[in-house]
Amino acid sequence: MWEATTIDNVRVFDGAGRTEPRSVHLDGGRIVSAPPDAARRVDARGGTLLPGLIDTHVHVEDRADLEASAHWGVTTVLDMGTPHLDRTMPLRHLDAVADLFSAGHPAVAPGATAIRKMGYPPSIGVADPSGAEEHVAARVRDGADYVKILVEDPKQPGTKALDRATVQALVDAAHRHGLTVIAHTVTGPTFRTAVDAGADVVTHVPVQAVVSREAARPGLVVSPTLVMMRGICATIGRRPALRALAALRVMPRMDFTNSLDSVRRLHHAGATVLAGTDANRDPATPFSPPHGEAMHQELGLLVEAGLSPVEALRAATVRPAQVFGLADRGEITAGRRADLLLVDGDPTTDIGATRNITGVWVAGHRFRGVPGS
Ligand SMILES: [Zn+2]
Repeated sequence: MWEATTIDNVRVFDGAGRTEPRSVHLDGGRIVSAPPDAARRVDARGGTLLPGLIDTHVHVEDRADLEASAHWGVTTVLDMGTPHLDRTMPLRHLDAVADLFSAGHPAVAPGATAIRKMGYPPSIGVADPSGAEEHVAARVRDGADYVKILVEDPKQPGTKALDRATVQALVDAAHRHGLTVIAHTVTGPTFRTAVDAGADVVTHVPVQAVVSREAARPGLVVSPTLVMMRGICATIGRRPALRALAALRVMPRMDFTNSLDSVRRLHHAGATVLAGTDANRDPATPFSPPHGEAMHQELGLLVEAGLSPVEALRAATVRPAQVFGLADRGEITAGRRADLLLVDGDPTTDIGATRNITGVWVAGHRFRGVPGS
């Protein structure tokens, strides 16, 4: 339940920097301009108030993931594929935990790894362009919030991949239904395929090469999930079989520097970079960033890849709100949801300060303790 609250003596992240200390008022689960009656008063002691963070790439198993997210100030999470619709879909828009949106089932090639090893139904396999419309219609029936497409690379050993024409047909079908398309790609050629097909958001960045200059276009939107790419390099990249293939030049070596350099190139080219972690608890995936905490690692990695701390904060707040049409959040202005993260220090100059959490509100519900209350 929300609680009327006035946060005093707080510097507000306004999307460009920090304001002078002021008061912020919450009532009815929203940020309001006038002080509410009988409000709880919180003295922020000059701390910084951020819009609740938005993780643009997670996989949610249960309510505990949403609690962990909120605990770390991640108040909105975008699930990018679940095999368990019956479990995940009812977790959307619960009170007092991170607010969940979901792609439901992704599109993959028939016989893809997601079907063979990750518990997805064979029906999500799309054999050719003629199957695109039915796939998207099924997602609409499931109530998916957007469409996820796994654009895999047929050159990777053991991979069943959608061909270019089918990827294009899926993007077009999703757009006909007014749905945003998120394309998963982990290699240079598939990154280009996703960009050429007009995917609205490309997620992950290659670890085996830097994205090409031709693919790095100003209008592009990317959720690179650097924390995941670093984890994959540290786990799969060290497996003896893959090292042998790399040594024989059958497959390029996995090197996290490629991912960082890809983000640097995309950012300089004018692409929109979004914060996403690929947080998951699926034992079938090669690495599992922890829900919530991984967002703070990701923000640090985005700064390492050349974003300023202000740009990294925008990548986790106002930017994803714009890209995913979440007009009710992402900024601290009257009328928006009271999704807030209070931290000590100045994350606009020291991104590590986002970890110094002293308070979290989800739609005006105080999730985590605050000082002076
Ligand atoms: Zn994922």
